[in-house]
Amino acid sequence: MRVAYKKFESTFRSWDKLALEAADFATRLGRERVISISHSSDQSTGVIFVWYWGKPEACYQCGYDLRGSEERCPECGQAIRNE
Ligand SMILES: [Zn+2]
Repeated sequence: MRVAYKKFESTFRSWDKLALEAADFATRLGRERVISISHSSDQSTGVIFVWYWGKPEACYQCGYDLRGSEERCPECGQAIRNE
């Protein structure tokens, strides 16, 4: 399990829309995966980062590359842990 982030950035939309996008994303992740949400801005751009626990990149059992896989390791069938 590694720390990952998703960046929401906008110069044209309002903070409310940006915050809603980040909130929707965080809601889909679920409370056990969200680490924190941070934001930053300059004169014209707002940025919101959602920090979360990402999926492991390699199967802990066989080492197969899990990027692009969802529930199980396609190589050995091991469930991908989201803890
Ligand atoms: Zn595997």
